Formats: sequence, C-alpha cells, structure tokens
Amino acid sequence: MKSALVTGANKGIGFEVVKELVRNGFFVYLGSRKLENGMAAVNQLKTEGITNVEAILLDVTDEESVKAARASLGEKVKVLDVLVNNAGISGGFPQSALNATIDQFKTVYDTNVFGVVRVTQAFIDLLQQSNQPRIVNVSTAMASLSLAADPASGSYDHKLAVYQSSKSALNMYTINLAYELRNTAFKVNAVCPGYTQTDFTGHQGTSTPAEAGKRIAKYALIGPDGPTGKYVSEEYFPEPASCPW
Ligand code: NAP
Repeated sequence: MKSALVTGANKGIGFEVVKELVRNGFFVYLGSRKLENGMAAVNQLKTEGITNVEAILLDVTDEESVKAARASLGEKVKVLDVLVNNAGISGGFPQSALNATIDQFKTVYDTNVFGVVRVTQAFIDLLQQSNQPRIVNVSTAMASLSLAADPASGSYDHKLAVYQSSKSALNMYTINLAYELRNTAFKVNAVCPGYTQTDFTGHQGTSTPAEAGKRIAKYALIGPDGPTGKYVSEEYFPEPASCPW
C-alpha cells in the first residue's frame, strides 16, 4: 500500500487531503503539531469509516520535532510515496509592507517557507525509495507576482505583504526542487487550493474544504506524464498552463 504524509492535517484543507488520499488507496500519516488534535482528527475519520490513517506529531517549525517524526515514520515504512506540505499560517492582520515587523516575517516564513524546506529535506530519502514520488506544496493565487502586480487582476487590492511574499518564496523553492529532481521520477508542484472556508479565512471563501482537498490531492495522484515544477490554481485558471506565477 502506498503511503503519504500531510503536514498540518488535523483540520481544514489538510484534513480533507488526508480523506482524499485514503479514498485513493493510500495509508496516510496525518501530521499535527499537537498530538491530541491529530488523534481527535483520526478519531473523527474513523467515525466516517476512514481507517487507513495514523496521527504523527510534527511541528514544521521545530527541527527536533521534524527529526523525531522522520525517525518515527522510518520505523513504520521504508518508502514514502507522497509528501503534502500543507501546514501554513497567515501571520495575522494587517500586514503592511511598510509596517510589518521583522518578527512577523520571521514567524510566517518559519512555517510557510523554512518549514517546507525542513520537512522536505528530512523526508527526501524515504521519498527517493518510491517509484512514483510526489511532493505537493500548498500555495496560493495570492503568491502570483504577475497577478499581484496587475491592476486589472481581481486580487490587486488584496495585499498581505508577509503572507504573500512567503508563498512566492515557496513557489520559487518548488521550482528549484523540481529542477534538481528533474531527471528522476519525482513530480513536484505548487498548488493553490482556492479561496476556502476554513479557520484560516474565518470560514469565508468560494470553496469548501472538501473541494480544496481534492484540488491538492489531484497533484499527489498524478501519473508519470503529469506536470512537475508547475504552479496550479485551478479555481481561477482551470487550464493549468495559463496560470501565472
Ligand atoms: P487552517 O484551517 O488554519 O489549517 C492550517 C493547518 O496548519 C492546521 O492544522 C495548523 O495546526 C497547521 N499548522 C500551522 N502551523 C503549523 C506548524 N508549525 N507545524 C505544523 N502544523 C502547523 O488553514 P487552511 O485554510 O486549511 O490552510 C492550509 C494551507 O492552505 C495553508 O498552507 C494555507 O496557506 C493554504 N491556503 C489556504 C487558502 C484558504 O483560502 N483557506 C487559500 C490558499 C492557500 P493547528 O491546528 O495546530 O493550528
């Protein structure tokens, strides 16, 4: 049975990604920075008949936590097929380019950028054992430099200096990672889940968490002919090739 790890999966979009991957035949390790929240999520899934899932303690900002999670997963599996770097924070509001503090930037980057690097580097050896390894980095349409700079785009007046720049950095990391892995079976992509009704958005949004979960899981499930090194935002750009970075 194929295995997957989803970070920040105790609620919101990550929780739905877990469901979708289990439905597609995976055993999924549900990452949670608080074990009790991870266990509660697993229990919730069990009431829905979803049993191929186990909680794993994983705080992406904590080097020791990431190392411990890698050691613990290594005792359970020799191969990891999918990594979904989903854990993310907004950093609170407002976020002004002129007034946001360096601490605000550091906190958000520690989760949204360095967290992804930490987890990816820690688990890459297990992923390299897979014959179809997939990495999905959960990004956002708000990370697009083209859209953010275009007064004609719908998101032009929605600026979050800290969060947006962190996800733009994540996009560039994704491109670099995909490039370094280009001569392997890896597929590495950055995917926007859509504007989704979760705690993150105060439950505002045009997508349900289930719809968002499917959009992310789709890129964990792509075949050998699927894209790599791409950024996809299907809610806004149904044709992936037209999605501006
Ligand atoms: P959410 O409901 O707030 O869930 C975020 C998850 O990340 C939670 O499980 C949270 O854990 C976890 N997390 C935060 N910091 C962590 C850390 N240091 N280590 C491990 N886990 C951590 O938000 P969401 O809407 O599902 O967001 C998921 C991802 O989608 C994020 O990367 C976000 O940027 C992205 N996204 C969301 C939207 C949207 O409209 N919602 C749009 C575009 C992109 P706790 O429960 O412990 O806080």
